Amino acid sequence: MRRTNRRRRAAIRRRNRNRIIVFSIVMVLSVTGAISLFSKLPFFKKDIAKTENKTYVGGDAQINKSGEKLEENISKEDNEEITKYLNNSESIKNLEKLTKDKKEGFLDKMQRISRAKSQTHIYSSTNDKSDIVTEVPIGDYLESYGSDNGWVKVNYQNLDGYVKEEELEKVEDEKLFKVIDGILIVNKEYGLPEDYNPGVKFEAMQSYELMRDEMKREGLDIKIVSDYRSYEDEEKLFEMNVKEYGREEAEAISAAPGHSEHQTGYAFDFITGGDNAVNDSFDETKEAEWLANNSYKYGFILRYPRGKEESTGFRYESWHFRYVGPELAKKIFEAGLTIEEYYGL
Ligand code: ZN
Repeated sequence: MRRTNRRRRAAIRRRNRNRIIVFSIVMVLSVTGAISLFSKLPFFKKDIAKTENKTYVGGDAQINKSGEKLEENISKEDNEEITKYLNNSESIKNLEKLTKDKKEGFLDKMQRISRAKSQTHIYSSTNDKSDIVTEVPIGDYLESYGSDNGWVKVNYQNLDGYVKEEELEKVEDEKLFKVIDGILIVNKEYGLPEDYNPGVKFEAMQSYELMRDEMKREGLDIKIVSDYRSYEDEEKLFEMNVKEYGREEAEAISAAPGHSEHQTGYAFDFITGGDNAVNDSFDETKEAEWLANNSYKYGFILRYPRGKEESTGFRYESWHFRYVGPELAKKIFEAGLTIEEYYGL
């Protein structure tokens, strides 16, 4: 009896053991299957990505470790100081201010046109002991290229230098001296005052000369028939056109005084070497074709293109080009837009 019971118990144990083995195998297979299935799901992939990221960070740490100097130079105390600084919101504000101030320092692009509050000097550097570049009469205008530490970087009659910030004032007229992206905007809406007389801008003239020489090498011949024109010049021109064509037509073909780009010193009218005045037949010349397609490389844009009369307010002028600098001219040319369209004016 005892023997039989023992055998029976041994059989039960064997059976149970086999069941456990089978159960374990089934469980292992199920779990493996489930994992491989789940790994295909998006949220699981995210976890894998995280792991990969960690691996990357590990690799990065190794790079840092090999660049031992970097780690050695930052002491534990410094690290604590940096962490403390970054955790202090007031410090972050100061840091932002510092970055902002830096951005508002001296610029390559014109920021605005300012007026001299009194007769003042332009210095060669930000120090009133440095050489005097020139004198500016009271009320005259200067191109300003940002300020730093009480000094403004300026260009006055093609001369570069620095003026004390307190000597200058902003022109408080929304419709005058509109500067966007470093460009002095002049159109039917935005204008220039009667006493703004910058003369022709040398930068634009130099670029023209380079362009003219390149055209010459390609067998093309252009010359400038009109560059800088003063407010008074524009007044005479406009009145002449009004007399001849009536006011409406005069406004379409010429600009009212203060609204001509020629007063900026950055605009030119080109004609062929054999011509002596602007005319519509320039449009049919190889020179006009070359200018329309290539002048942007020298910083010029065809200011009043065909079919853009509504945007510019002027009829098509194949001869009128505006200097905006090569970087911006390329962008505007490639976009196929007018200045008004490009800046949403
Ligand atoms: Zn013109």
